[in-house]
Amino acid sequence: MTVVIKLGTSNITYPTGHLNIRHMESLVKVLSDLKNAGHQIVLVSSGAIAMGVGKLGLAERPADMPGKQAAAAVGQCELMYTYDKLFSEYNHTVAQVLLTGSDVEDAARRAHFVNTMTRLLKMGVLPVINENDTVATEEIAVGDNDTLAAIVGCAVGADLLVLLSDIDGLYTADPRVDLAARLIEQVAEVTPQIEALAGERGSGLSVGGMATKLKAARMCQDHGVDMVIANGADPNLLYDILAGLPVGTRFLGRGKKEEQ
Ligand code: GLU
Repeated sequence: MTVVIKLGTSNITYPTGHLNIRHMESLVKVLSDLKNAGHQIVLVSSGAIAMGVGKLGLAERPADMPGKQAAAAVGQCELMYTYDKLFSEYNHTVAQVLLTGSDVEDAARRAHFVNTMTRLLKMGVLPVINENDTVATEEIAVGDNDTLAAIVGCAVGADLLVLLSDIDGLYTADPRVDLAARLIEQVAEVTPQIEALAGERGSGLSVGGMATKLKAARMCQDHGVDMVIANGADPNLLYDILAGLPVGTRFLGRGKKEEQ
């Protein structure tokens, strides 16, 4: 199975911006094991800005664009160094792929991207994707990695996109404020009612929230790709998710493709 897995900033860094070594190591171990089992894995990893903040010793995430871009440039390097080092321990090779919105909107550039991805996967490489934050100003940026991950999943014809976050999935209400909030296990269609369940924002150093995840779910449904939102705190959940067991919220996409 070809699976795109998106990690949020909060899955791999502490609020300080420094690497959460324990999390990162267990994620890399599970992903390596899934690759050994025969799955093709593509990682969309956030965390460049946060890790740049940590590495540069900044007190907080910069508010201005050049500040964010500089932090991302430093952090991306640290991020890839860490992935390369950890995946190498399990004999897996990573590749860095940086994209902007305009790269995937342009038909020729999108084709080049898909060709490169296809070759990387054929070579058994694990591509690690992020937005090219150095040049991704508002006009050309995808803007958030939930959407970027959905674009990637649809472009490579993935079977499944998994968005790992710091929440368990989509709830009937915001579980941080409403004790009666219930986890929705399965969504057959992203309707306006479902979209209305999205709260406003993500946490701390993160960019996306539920709104960007539901936008990603809609895109996946349109392209016949299954999508799961799950908590990244326990990477072992990925085994159950890939086995189709009920974990987090699953948005059905594959059935739709077969109906057409
Ligand atoms: N590209 C940003 C980073 O790596 C993250 C964007 C996102 O989390 O949606 O820091």
